[in-house]
Amino acid sequence: MFDPVVYYILAGLLVFIIMFGIFLMSNVKYAKIGNILSAFAMLLAVLLTILQYEIIDKWIIFPYLGVGALIGIYLAYRVKMIEMPEMVALLNGLGGLASLVVGAFAYFNIGVDISNNFSYIVAIIALMVGTITFVGSLIAALKLHRIISGRPVRVKFYKTIITILFTLQLVAIVISPFKLINELLFVVLLVVISSLFSLVFTLRIGGADMPITISLLNSFSGVAGAISGLAIGDVLLVAVGGIVGASGLILTKIMCQAMNKTLIEILLGKTSNVIEVESDNEDENIDQSLEPKEDFKEIFLKSRSVIIVPGYGMAVAQAQQLVKNLADIMKKDGKTVKFAIHPVAGRMPGHMNVLLAEANVDYDDLYDMEVINNEFKTTDLVLIVGANDVVNPKAKTHEGTPIYGMPVLDVEDANNIFIFNYDLKPGYSGVSNPLYKLNKAHLFLGDAKETLKSFMDDLKI
Ligand code: NAP
Repeated sequence: MFDPVVYYILAGLLVFIIMFGIFLMSNVKYAKIGNILSAFAMLLAVLLTILQYEIIDKWIIFPYLGVGALIGIYLAYRVKMIEMPEMVALLNGLGGLASLVVGAFAYFNIGVDISNNFSYIVAIIALMVGTITFVGSLIAALKLHRIISGRPVRVKFYKTIITILFTLQLVAIVISPFKLINELLFVVLLVVISSLFSLVFTLRIGGADMPITISLLNSFSGVAGAISGLAIGDVLLVAVGGIVGASGLILTKIMCQAMNKTLIEILLGKTSNVIEVESDNEDENIDQSLEPKEDFKEIFLKSRSVIIVPGYGMAVAQAQQLVKNLADIMKKDGKTVKFAIHPVAGRMPGHMNVLLAEANVDYDDLYDMEVINNEFKTTDLVLIVGANDVVNPKAKTHEGTPIYGMPVLDVEDANNIFIFNYDLKPGYSGVSNPLYKLNKAHLFLGDAKETLKSFMDDLKI
């Protein structure tokens, strides 16, 4: 439809807008507009591709686009904040599925006319990476939603199975241009092999490593898109897929650093397959009252410096607004109030930032772990709201547990700790938390929204 030069210029412009949108997302104030801008440019990119290639009669495609958009809007409004990681995993999966379809169609020469070996090979790679992303993302979503166990599944003869499946995929890539067997049969076989590969691979990863896996699958969905762009010779798809692939990889690297793990260790399932060494019943031996101690009001009133540590439980209880109200009251009373944000608190990157932004907590009050960790020892009071793994001191001492080596917030250094957690059960990683046993810890057990309310009522604030 457009002259190739005009098409390249338009494609370049859209890629620039998408990258500018991503750039805006690094600033909380402009993140929303950045998100909308990138999404809008992506929509334009889809329309441009449809018009340029006239893949399907353009008037037929619009109702489909409309239905897809309506489903997307419905899901985006319906999904609860705590279900966002599953939603992200599913969206990554759909990206993979799209690349699978594009790769297969390109291989069958449907909609595009390819006849060189290179295009056949990249079409098959796109199909393969797309399938791996799709199946892996589905498993990740099922694990996060607890439909299947979040724990790592040890598959017998793992190494042999993975090596065989990987070799079969390599052979398939090499022979793909020769079309030795029926095209459809070849594609179906490859989808089955890649699905099995992804299944065995993802089932083995578990526990606290799931967020990193999801961000890696996010990157894979971009890479699959970029490769399918190569297969059909579309620069726009290559560029946009490249952006998604690169940003997913950067996020993966940041998360690996936050958890002090290497990507290779995670992919090989080494960090997930460690075992909790102590007795599961350890918490039952807790030697202190499960009620807050009598002096908690006095401690609260006397405290001048307070650090609030939010975690996944705050999201479950939807207690962010109450936490913000409490912070405002404390500030009015002349206390210094800071929020300590652990990079993997909650269930998705930036989870706490989003929740606290929703409650209009000033962004300047949020402190990253490495900035605030030194301040705990000079802090009068820490309020933990639904956080467990990110404050678990065992991460520093208990070799052999899934969180060993992950940097955590040093809350045990503070003078007093008030814990607003649901119960004494371990956090996401399954490692029990010795904080509950400390003399300076006061337990306010139950739903954080309820316990915070009665805490404030008790103090008449
Ligand atoms: P966590 O270890 O899951 O601990 C959450 C705590 O909140 C638990 O003690 C939980 O109790 C409690 N809780 C649940 N519902 C509550 C309620 N209504 N009111 C009060 N408390 C409630 O969470 P975290 O400390 O934020 O650490 C995050 C963990 O998730 C890390 O292990 C991280 O690796 C993993 N993860 C992170 C991401 C990410 O990208 N941020 C993604 C996936 C996984 P119960 O145990 O009784 O429910």
